[in-house]
Formats: sequence, C-alpha cells, structure tokens
Amino acid sequence: MQPSLHLPKAEKICGHLGNGVYEEDLEGNLVAPSVRIGYCILRRMRSISVLLALSAGAMFAQDRYERLMRDILIFDAHIDTPRYFVDEGYKLADEHGYYELDIPRMKKGKLGAVLFGIYAQPQDFPPDRWLPRSIEVLEALHREVAANKATMEFAWSSADVERIHRAGKLAAMASLEGGHLIADSLGVLQAFHRLGVRYMTLAHFATNSYSDSMTGETKHNGLSKTGRELVREMNRLGMMVDVSHISDKAVLDAVEESKSPVMASHSSAKAVTPIVRNMPDGVIKAIARKGGVVCINFHAGYLDEPAYNVYIKNRPARDQEIKDVLAKRPNDPSRWEIVRRIQKKYFEKMPKVSYTSLLKHIDHIAKTSGVDSVGLGSDYDGISGMTPSGMEDVSHYPAIVQGLIELGYSDGDIRKVMGLNLLRVLRANEQGAEKR
Ligand SMILES: [Zn+2]
Repeated sequence: MQPSLHLPKAEKICGHLGNGVYEEDLEGNLVAPSVRIGYCILRRMRSISVLLALSAGAMFAQDRYERLMRDILIFDAHIDTPRYFVDEGYKLADEHGYYELDIPRMKKGKLGAVLFGIYAQPQDFPPDRWLPRSIEVLEALHREVAANKATMEFAWSSADVERIHRAGKLAAMASLEGGHLIADSLGVLQAFHRLGVRYMTLAHFATNSYSDSMTGETKHNGLSKTGRELVREMNRLGMMVDVSHISDKAVLDAVEESKSPVMASHSSAKAVTPIVRNMPDGVIKAIARKGGVVCINFHAGYLDEPAYNVYIKNRPARDQEIKDVLAKRPNDPSRWEIVRRIQKKYFEKMPKVSYTSLLKHIDHIAKTSGVDSVGLGSDYDGISGMTPSGMEDVSHYPAIVQGLIELGYSDGDIRKVMGLNLLRVLRANEQGAEKR
C-alpha cells in the first residue's frame, strides 16, 4: 500500500467539484461533472479504505501489544541491586530517582522475575572477604524479599517462578557472580544452592582456579580440571552454569562438559559490537546447539562500539575518583551520592546510545543462532548507570516488546525472548539434576 502516491491526485481533482463544466481527468480525458463526482467518490473511498487499513494495522499491533502485556513473563537473568541493601540501606519498596530497580518500577515495567546477582569483585575486596561478603549480600536479598511479601516472593525453582507470576507477584531468585566466591569448596557451592543460588558465573573479571576470564590471564587454556569437576557438580545440583565473563575457549569447554544447557547471564553479540566482553557468533551457536541461552547485556558500551571506546578510555580516571571518595569518607552516608555523581559525569562523556541498539543485538542472535537462544540479562545496577536511552531502568521493558512487534516477531517468539527461553534453561537444569 502506498497511500501517499494516490491521495494528492484525488484531492486535486476532487477539489474542483460542483463548478458544472467539463474538465480533464488525470489521464487527460474530458469528463462530465456527474462522472467526475462518481470518480471522486471512488477515489475518496479508496483513500479512506487505505487509511482504514492502516489504522486497522496500527490497532492490530496495539491489540497484540496489550494482549501480550496482560500476562507476559519478563524474566531478567542478571540484576545487581542486592549490594545496595547492604551498603546503603536501599529499600526495594521505595521508588527511587537513581539506580535501576525497585518494586514500584518493576511493576511499571511488568518485570515479573529477576535472577539477582551476588558478587564481590576480586579487585574490590581482599580474598578473605569474598565468601562472607557473598553470604551477607545473599542474606540481605532474602531479608528484602521477606520484607515485601505482599508483592514479592523468593523463587526456588522454575515452577515457583510460574506460580508467583500467575499470582500477580514478583519472583526473586539468586545467583553468584564468580567461582572465586566459593573458596575452592564444592561444599560451599552446595550450601549456596541450598540458600537459593540457581546459577554461578564460572569466573568474574579475573581468572580463578576453575576458569580463564575473558578479561584475565590465560592460565588454563579454558577450564581447568577442577573447573570441569565444578561444572559436573553444578549439573548434579541443578544449578545453571553461567558462561558470561569467561574466555571463549572456557565457554566451549563448559558447553562440552555440561550435561545441561548453559546460559550466558549478561553478554551481548560481538558481531554487532566487537568489544572484549561480547560473544562471537561461533560461541553463541555452540551454546544454542546444546539448548542454552545468551541474555543480552544492556550496558551502553557493550551495545555500541563508539560508546565503549569513550567509556574504556575514561574508566581508570573514573575508578580512581570513586576510590578516592570512598577512602576519604568511609563513614559518610552521602558518599554513595557523590559516587553516583562521578559515574554520571563520565557517562555523559559517552555518545548517546538508543535502546534500538539493544534490539539489534537481540535480532542478530535470533537470526543467526535461533530465537530460542536469546534472552535478557540487563546487568542493571551493575553497569554504573550506563544505560541506553529509552531503557534507563526496569520500568522500560515494554519498549522491547513494542520494538520486537515492529521488527515482525510473533507473539510466541516475543514471549521466548522476554523470559521463556531463560525459564526453559532453568527447568532443563532442574530436570537434569533429578536424573542424576
Ligand atoms: Zn558481570
């Protein structure tokens, strides 16, 4: 349909109706006023039907959007809010003008389930604090969820996620970011599973005894022998193996070793944005072939290379400023606000990145590795406020649904991307555990 090609001609001829003389039609033939009137009515009807068809299309898209939003499960694989509970007394119940998640904004964005990240970055804490810090943050997550039991519930399984979502409540789950947090002990891993941890990232920013990190030294050429044992133990427990942050070779080793599908909790596509933290197509395809899922990271620099270049150039200066503030004001409650101001100052130096870049990453993985292999892992509250515009916090997920409708995705495929792929991988890991 090309309405703009027809409308002006019809308007031109019909604009002279009723003057009672013969006139030329659009092809140059003389026509009587009565013929002209019939012709104009016909043209007008055509224009109207084109407009009606267009508005019916828009209404249909709006209809689809509203129907989807009524019960869609939006499930994010990686959000880092819990450390704020410990450090700043951040409360999920209150709506904030900073950070990216709280319950009021979850409701606005129809975010139904979250795998919250528990972490202690190796460079931020001495090794003897890694395990206690993780337990403190996990305990704070359980406490916050319990304090909001009218709206939120801790989910221990995929069935819990579905039940809590059907009941109109929000499901909270826990995950661990980095094998360094379990103090080289499978017993600690088992205890974390009992406390609700449902995936663990094999390594964080640094290489550990289990796996090479993508941003750390190459020590094991992928996974070590104990790394492979760790994967088997996670399979036995039904804990998902998270391959974000680890080297490409380590991902391939984990895919090979794991009996259950693996997941990348917060990684984007290197073919779209060629930066170190993103995954090449070959690695994504290997994850997909075994039924796994890659959940897209929303970090503006991971979605867009020019933004990444500015971010990475300025990061040492930004981190130093933050370190200085925290060292100078160890007991000042306003120090976190100062830190946020520093983060904002550096974020504003980066070129703006639209949320449509996020759609490009989703679309690329869906088209190259299959729509079953892509999900959402925003990394909100772990990306120092570097969100794409139009996706500033968890209240914006509906824009992704809208964007996928516009890209021509079916309702079923949109549901998969928004949460069902991740739920499927979680369930497959639980079923894998039962079998062993
Ligand atoms: Zn991370």
